Amino acid sequence: MSAPVRLRPEIAALPPYRQGRQADPSAFKLSSNENPFDPLPAVLDVLRDSLQVNRYPDAAAVELRRVLAERFGVTADEVHVGAGSVAILSQLFLAAAKPGDEVVYSWRSFEAYPGLVTVTGADSIQVPNRPDGGHDLDAMAASITERTRIVVVCSPNNPTGEIVTTHEFETFMAKVPETVLVLLDEAYVEFVTDPDAVNGESLLERHPNLVVLRTFSKAYGLAGLRVGYAIGPAYVLDAARSTAIPLSVTGIGQQAAIASLEHEDELLERVGRITRLRDRVWQALADQGWQLPRSQANFIWLPTGDQTAHAAEVFEKAGIIVRAFAPEGLRISIGETASVDKLLGAAQEVVRTL
Ligand SMILES: *Cc1c(COP(=O)(O)O)cnc(C)c1O
Repeated sequence: MSAPVRLRPEIAALPPYRQGRQADPSAFKLSSNENPFDPLPAVLDVLRDSLQVNRYPDAAAVELRRVLAERFGVTADEVHVGAGSVAILSQLFLAAAKPGDEVVYSWRSFEAYPGLVTVTGADSIQVPNRPDGGHDLDAMAASITERTRIVVVCSPNNPTGEIVTTHEFETFMAKVPETVLVLLDEAYVEFVTDPDAVNGESLLERHPNLVVLRTFSKAYGLAGLRVGYAIGPAYVLDAARSTAIPLSVTGIGQQAAIASLEHEDELLERVGRITRLRDRVWQALADQGWQLPRSQANFIWLPTGDQTAHAAEVFEKAGIIVRAFAPEGLRISIGETASVDKLLGAAQEVVRTL
């Protein structure tokens, strides 16, 4: 056998990305926090009109950034659009962190963070979640060193659904040096109903080292079109634009995002249906005896501990595909109303066998 190509060892050691198994078509796929609703008719109309795919898209997403800038009361330079907010996370990590630097985040949190940090060559500093699944912001602030370049705060946290409160966030920001970039990942902010939850929009003016990340993938139901955005200081977002792969946000994605903002009321009405279903599922699971965090996102977290793999199988047999994070728990998205009885039946069976 010939000698293997010399790769960066830390990259070769990363687990290759494998998407959850393609579900049996009759199963409910509740493993990726997707929106169960089909696109709005108005969005589909726009998609049909933007099929000139022989042309490159607008590389600067000028129109979408203008619309977002207007709604957030910022300038267009203070808005950045990426091919999903995961792309923007990657760009900001590359812009601020290099080998020898540190990126702090809570753990368990979004699965994409560790790999994206490794790609930069920097080190991940994972601060364990509180027992209730929330961020331990005091410990996160205490873990900041001379080497820290970025702290990521995920609220609601994927996969536990716990929020950071405004008060907790402000207390935290008061301890973070202004030279450290704070990324507030609000991929699920539209599903938040707790008035105490942090909302980055109102805090940007006060914190010159804060960037807020949002996405059209979850509440707006455009996961397959890959559009996310960031709001923050222009010079920081310029650095993200410099590390971005040019032209990766498609024209169709930009048009669909603009149409979604134009029809936001209809979309937010659907979000309301999802959050009401979430609260109903949460209550039913609590009634079964589960001690689970009060999720503020479009998923719930079942702390199945070392029984996680077994529990995931019980759900799968019941026709529910979940995301298993052994040995901690299961993340189950709130999807079709018709999935709820199966979901609760499987959860009840797991309770019996635990
Ligand atoms: C889903 C998700 C994102 C972004 O997803 P994109 O589809 O890339 O916009 C970002 N952060 C968290 C925590 C998520 O769960």
